[in-house]
Parts: sequence; C-alpha cells; structure tokens
Amino acid sequence: MTEPKTVAAGAAVTLTGLRKHYGEVRAVDGVDLVIAPGEVVALLGPNGAGKSTTVDMLLGLTRPDTGAVTIFGSSPGNAVADGRIGAMLQGGALLDDATVGETVGMIASLHRNPLRVAEALRGAGIEDLANRRCNKLSGGQKQRVRFAVALVSDPDLLVLDEPTAAMDVQTRREFWLSMQDFTTSGRTVLFATHYLEEAENYADRVVFLSKGRIVADGSVAGVTALTSGRTIKAVLPGATGHALHKLPGVSEVDIRGDRIILSSNESDKALRTLLAEYPQAYDIEVTAIGLEDAFLTLTGHATLSDGGSAPTPPFEGNETR
Ligand code: ADP
Ligand code: MG
Repeated sequence: MTEPKTVAAGAAVTLTGLRKHYGEVRAVDGVDLVIAPGEVVALLGPNGAGKSTTVDMLLGLTRPDTGAVTIFGSSPGNAVADGRIGAMLQGGALLDDATVGETVGMIASLHRNPLRVAEALRGAGIEDLANRRCNKLSGGQKQRVRFAVALVSDPDLLVLDEPTAAMDVQTRREFWLSMQDFTTSGRTVLFATHYLEEAENYADRVVFLSKGRIVADGSVAGVTALTSGRTIKAVLPGATGHALHKLPGVSEVDIRGDRIILSSNESDKALRTLLAEYPQAYDIEVTAIGLEDAFLTLTGHATLSDGGSAPTPPFEGNETR
C-alpha cells in the first residue's frame, strides 16, 4: 500500500452479519460492527462470549458461517499480507531456541516495510531482552515478545486477544503504557478483555459481547448510562419491599435481613424520602452504577470474569500471518 498511515480512508474494520456456530454452540451469532480509524475499542465479555471467535474471523483465521469482514477496504488476508494488521493472540507459539531479537527479526523479514527490530522491541518495552532465549522468558515477557511481533510490521490496526492475561500487575501497567504510545500515533486498536478496568482505562469505546451477540456499544460513560441510576444501601430493620418500591425512581429492591439495597434513577429524592419515612435507617451508602453493573443488567451474567482465565481453545493460526 502506498498511502500514508494517517489517511486510511473509510472504516478500519467492518463486520457485517458475522456468524459462527459450532454444533449447538452459537459462538458468534450475528455481529455487526464498524470501527473507525484511530478508535481504541475494547471487546468486553465473559469467557465463552465469543470474543476470540470474533477476533479469529476478523483476522481470517476462522471462516464465518455467514457474514463478511472488511479491513481497510480489503479482505483480512490481503490486509495481513500488506502488513496493515498486527495481531497478538492467546498462546501464539514462540520458537524456544531463538532469541527475542531473532524472533522479531524473522517476522520483520516477512514484511515489506517493517520497523527495525530495535524499534519494535522498544515499542514493546523489551529492548533489554533482545538476546534472551524465548524459553527463558516468563509468561508476561512472552506476551510482550508477541506484542513486539505484532508491532514489527508497523501496522495500522492492532488486534489483541486478552493481551495481558499472563501478566502481573506491574507488567500489565507497562504494557498499557507501551500501547498508549502506539495509539497516540492515531492508529486503530481492537482488544478483547474480560477486565473491566482495562476497558474503562484504555478504550475509547466498549463493545459488550454476550453469548455471541453485541449487547451494548458506546463510550464507557455511555454504556454505563444505559443503566442509569444509583444503588442505595442501608441498614433498616422492618422495612417491607412493598413500601420501599414506592420510593422515588426505585426499580429494584433487595432485602437481606436488616439490610436493604435499592436501585433508583432518582437517588437523591429516594434517599430524602427514605430518611423522612425511616429516620432509624443507618449505615447508608450511595454508589454509582458502574460498568460491571451495566454489564450485569445488560446480560444477566453473574460476573464478567467468572471462570477465571481458563484457556481458550488452541489456535490453529499464529500471530505471524
Ligand atoms: P471468548 O473468547 O469470549 O472466551 P470464544 O470465542 O473462545 O469465547 O468461544 C465462544 C464459544 O464458542 C464457547 O462456548 C466456546 O466453547 C465455543 N468454541 C470456540 N471455538 C470452538 C471450536 N473450535 N469448537 C467448538 N466450540 C468452540
Ligand atoms: Mg478468548
């Protein structure tokens, strides 16, 4: 491609009616998504939501049952061949005996206009590991080598599937700092995660996936606002659900022994009325409904990260394509 990185015309990614079923399992069940150049999008969902299947179809590693993928106006295969996509998949293999520098150099040699190896290593924050053999790396370090591999083609679009899964807190923070260097140059990122705080802190836009479908799509604030309101907690012996439901804006009432939990979209009024009617209430707490609650409300799913970091099925492709 001859056009400069900054003038990618039209959408970076277009997914249209994407569907992939495995027998009875509707891994991806009708996903439509348009990502503009420069957007940093988090694909958020619990294990099994269909994030990896979506990412694999986007990269051309899995063929959709129905639907289409367009990356910068071409097919995934062409976009990958042109070095316009850098991908970091879960558990992509590294050659044990090669050093980090050799590994990144090997991938660089497959591309027309790669970064220098040192640049890619710097981009991933692992210059100091250039001469280390891959089999001597920690899980988090391996992830950062995969990140350098994803960067070395100097891509316009980075696609990352749970990039920080094997990282400790410190490495995770450094990783996102490296990532911000990449995104400030106006390039596009799609990352799958089940960590809410990663979506909140690093994405411009959050796409919630549940059971293969998009259940919400917008800014963090916008998605949170979909479930507008606040939670009021208090200790209030003897209150009845019937009476509490009559407070202003109350949509949900939960009574657990002496403790009450209310959801209200008029929390100030609800609280005033509550105190007027029940001056004996104490231990009162009012909290905003956050992304996690938004997800709960939208999906009915118990928690985003339940199932922990269970490994996803092994990938047939690899990140060098
Ligand atoms: P996520 O990445 O969000 O955890 P996946 O896309 O890996 O979700 O999986 C979505 C669903 O599809 C899960 O129920 C998973 O078990 C199933 N699935 C994924 N890949 C395969 C496969 N190759 N064969 C059968 N089922 C699969
Ligand atoms: Mg996955």
